[in-house]
Amino acid sequence: MEKNLEILQRYKLRNTEIRREILSLFLDTDYALSHQYIEKKLEAKFDRVTLYRTLKAFEESGLVHRIANDKETIEYALCKDDCHAENHKHSDNHAHFRCEICQKTYCLDSVGIPDFHIPMGFKAKEFQLLVNGICEKCA
Ligand SMILES: [Zn+2]
Ligand SMILES: [Zn+2]
Ligand SMILES: [Zn+2]
Repeated sequence: MEKNLEILQRYKLRNTEIRREILSLFLDTDYALSHQYIEKKLEAKFDRVTLYRTLKAFEESGLVHRIANDKETIEYALCKDDCHAENHKHSDNHAHFRCEICQKTYCLDSVGIPDFHIPMGFKAKEFQLLVNGICEKCA
């Protein structure tokens, strides 16, 4: 079975053409993909609303996670196996690296985010750690 099909099944996502195609884009790259990038790649075949809904479904099922960055656009990267649809909770507790030359964002899976102490009265929901610099391909 093709890898994208196998993944859709594992995450209990219905197998549709757009889902297979978006998933293939993620499987083909080792960096995060922006909403705009995905849109440009697939706009000839699918409308924006469908693309948007598909990414949202992927995010909700624990297949991709959203990355906070300083760009205008939202970026997503594939989750590792420990994010799962069951509890709708992501466990992507890693830093992200943004290359200032190629503008790509990478997941730094081996760099965990420390447990910060948040002042009383504040409720933290999510931590994001973004490292800016030059990636290994551009160095
Ligand atoms: Zn995740
Ligand atoms: Zn780079
Ligand atoms: Zn990530």
